[in-house]
Amino acid sequence: MTRRLPPSPLDRHAQALALCTYCPSLCRHACPVATAESTDTTSPWGLVSLVEHLRKGRVELDDEVARHLYHCANCRACTEACVHDNDVEEVLVAARAWAVGQGVTPFPRSGFERAPLVLDDIRRVERFERRPAISLLPGRVALDSTPRVIDALLALCERLDIDAISCGEAAALDVGYDLWFAGFHTEFVAQARKVHAAISGAQELVVMSPEALYTLSHVYPRYGLGFEGALLHTSDLLLQLLGSAVVKRVDARVAYHDSCHLARHLDHVEVPRQVLRRVLSRPIVELASHGKETLCCGGTGCLGTTAPGTSRAQAEAVIAQCFEAGVDRVVSFSPECVDALRAVAPAGLRVDHAVSLVAEAIIGDSAAG
Ligand code: SF4
Ligand code: SF4
Repeated sequence: MTRRLPPSPLDRHAQALALCTYCPSLCRHACPVATAESTDTTSPWGLVSLVEHLRKGRVELDDEVARHLYHCANCRACTEACVHDNDVEEVLVAARAWAVGQGVTPFPRSGFERAPLVLDDIRRVERFERRPAISLLPGRVALDSTPRVIDALLALCERLDIDAISCGEAAALDVGYDLWFAGFHTEFVAQARKVHAAISGAQELVVMSPEALYTLSHVYPRYGLGFEGALLHTSDLLLQLLGSAVVKRVDARVAYHDSCHLARHLDHVEVPRQVLRRVLSRPIVELASHGKETLCCGGTGCLGTTAPGTSRAQAEAVIAQCFEAGVDRVVSFSPECVDALRAVAPAGLRVDHAVSLVAEAIIGDSAAG
């Protein structure tokens, strides 16, 4: 007699679960985590099959088993490679939330929470206004690791007469992507409400972190917290600004690293390239994996917390592609990617935020980092 299973929140992913479980792992080659860890256990097929076994009660949930669910960068390379567009990221986010709901948390919640910055830290950025009409959200990684890039962006805006943009109170808050990724959804919603209140009233929001932009544009609306104004990425703003700018093109051989969230989640492949073409005198050097097939550098998906060795190996694989391409400089529009790549880049390879390149071409600031 077939045992009747109690209903599970994972049931709504039954079709996606079945697709992967009966698939001969056709996207295995695309998964950076499975490649870095050299195992099928953390391949998309392996992870989703595990979720199906958990749902069907064939495997018991405990910390050791749940830990596997966090060996994923939420990079969507599997979905891009899948003929069914199977949404592995959504399945794994739901599975982590299900495990957290059962009290199984292999990594403490504190590892995914970022306390608000004190406002004085934000005020150190050159332009601060409590509630600006155009609000710049740099994100914690940019504020912590590349604050000069934020100043360079604001200086560019000033030079090009966009003086309504400033960092405001919302810039002190984290949008909660890590909490969402890790399955702490009650805490994520509480954080999202705070951010939503802080950005309400702004006409435009310019977001530097691609994963933060994805969270604001695609995850917040699921909880009734959609932003009513215009949501832009830094590259959108720069493309507008460059329309009227006097540019002294930078003569360098530069590779562009696409962030997973920008290219695959937000379909921003061309806009960043249009910006770079405006400021470079030579063609952009494309890495072996680029555009929607970009290789995840391990800077997202909380891998730095849940699988630091894997995250580092992924960054090293991107750096290896830079060397294959023969460049001595690589830029990205993601503060998270810049941070991950800089951590492993050897001397002789410069890793910059793309804003620095634009600042170099317009205001001659080559040290914005
Ligand atoms: S995501 Fe698609 S290609 Fe990858 S294992 Fe699942 S069904 Fe197969
Ligand atoms: S989202 Fe990325 S890291 Fe996660 S299973 Fe898919 S390919 Fe692997």
